[in-house]
Amino acid sequence: MSDLLHVFVFERIAVRGALVQLDATWRHIRNLHAHPPAVERLLGECIVASALLASTLKRGSGSVILQMQGDGPVSLLVAECSGDFGLRCTARYAQPIPDAPLARLLGNGRCAITVGAVTSTRRYQGVVPLEDATLAGALQTYMARSEQLESRILLFAAADAASGLLLQRIPERHETDADGWNRVTHLGSTARADELSMLAAPMLLRRLFPEDDVRLFGGRPLRFECSCSRDRVLGMLKSLRREEVEAILAEQGQVEVTCEFCGQRYVFPPDRCREIFS
Ligand SMILES: [Zn+2]
Repeated sequence: MSDLLHVFVFERIAVRGALVQLDATWRHIRNLHAHPPAVERLLGECIVASALLASTLKRGSGSVILQMQGDGPVSLLVAECSGDFGLRCTARYAQPIPDAPLARLLGNGRCAITVGAVTSTRRYQGVVPLEDATLAGALQTYMARSEQLESRILLFAAADAASGLLLQRIPERHETDADGWNRVTHLGSTARADELSMLAAPMLLRRLFPEDDVRLFGGRPLRFECSCSRDRVLGMLKSLRREEVEAILAEQGQVEVTCEFCGQRYVFPPDRCREIFS
C-alpha cells in the first residue's frame, strides 16, 4: 500500500467512510526527527486523523489542523493536512517521555481542530478536552458534539506504517436498515493494524464488511509537504519588535530559524534583518 486516502459509501445504509494508509510518507516523516516511541505513535495517529477529517470536507475547503496541548510531558503536538492532502506534523515535549497512553503524555489537555483556508473567513475551530483515553475517542466526541455526526474512528501507527478508518453516519439520508450502523461499526472495529495498513482497500472492505455493498471511490495520493518558506519566515520576523531582532543579532551574529515541521534552516544576515525595519 502506498500513501492513499480512500473514501467509500455503503450502498444500502446511510454510512460513509474513509481509509488512510501511509507507508513511505510516514517513514519520511519519522526520519525527519527522532522522537521517543510514545510521541511517534501519537504523531502517527494525529497525522492519519487529520487526513481522515480532511476527507469529510468539500474539495477546496482548505486544511485541517489538529493541535493538542497539555500540561504533561508532551506540551504540544500539531498535525496538518492541506487542502490537496499534503501532510506535516511536529511535537514539543520534555524528556524523558514515558511509554504511556494519551492522558499521561498530554496531562490536562485539549485538542483544537481548525478547518478551512488560512485566508478564509469560513475558517472555524472546535475544541475537545482530552478526557478520552485515546485520540480516536476524543475525535469521536468532537464529531458528536460539534458536528452532530455519529462517527467511529480507528487509528494505528507503528514504525513502518500508519493507518486509520473512519465510519460516519450520513444524517441527511433516510435509513432503511435499522441495525446497519451498529453492524458496520462493530465489524469495522474488528480491523487489525496489519489489515488496515497492508491490505488493498477493495480487499480490506470486502473482508471487513462481507455482507454489505460498498462503493469505493478512487484513491487520492497523500504525501509529506511543508508550507514553510523564506518569505513566511520573513513575515514572522517582521512581526517582532526591532529590539528583539537586534538582541538576537547581538548574541548570535545572524538570525537563524529552523522549521519545526521539516527541519529546513533559514538564515538571515544582519543587513537583511535591518532592511525589514528600514
Ligand atoms: Zn518546513
